[in-house]
Amino acid sequence: MAPMGWGRRRVLLLNATYEPLTALPLRRAVVLVMCGKADVVHGDPAGLTLHAATVSLPVPSVIRLSTYVRVPYRAQVPLTRAGLMHRDRYRCAYCGARADTIDHVIPRSRGGQHSWQNCVACCAKCNHRKADLLLSELGWHLRVVPTAPHGPHWRLLVHSGEADPLWRPYLGVAA
Ligand SMILES: [Zn+2]
Repeated sequence: MAPMGWGRRRVLLLNATYEPLTALPLRRAVVLVMCGKADVVHGDPAGLTLHAATVSLPVPSVIRLSTYVRVPYRAQVPLTRAGLMHRDRYRCAYCGARADTIDHVIPRSRGGQHSWQNCVACCAKCNHRKADLLLSELGWHLRVVPTAPHGPHWRLLVHSGEADPLWRPYLGVAA
């Protein structure tokens, strides 16, 4: 395999129960497979293969642990741009156009929090018009009430941004 992309490539790690756990750097995923701690569930769609001294291995996209590990549940999903855009499906919370910015519903200058409940995806036009005003001052309404996401796949999305399409069945993400 060409070294290009090696460092940045990530592999979805599943628990023995197929529950998604995290996105690993390729190097660490390969070590788990080589040590017999995980099996390759899906290889690279292009069929790339790694060649080491004595073995060759399909470049993994999804691997699964051989033995179940208990994971402490993290109640609060950290707020990230990638996670927020995914929650709001890249749609502006005010007009429904494609969103490319994040807006604080109650502006930070007016005491609004940087939280899942107060942040929404927003198009540049609405963001500019809204400025430091409250929705009541503009007569605007939210299309959807913003809430904090939960569930295992969110832990992954906040780190991986756009996930590999092969990961989707495991993440419960609508394709
Ligand atoms: Zn808008």
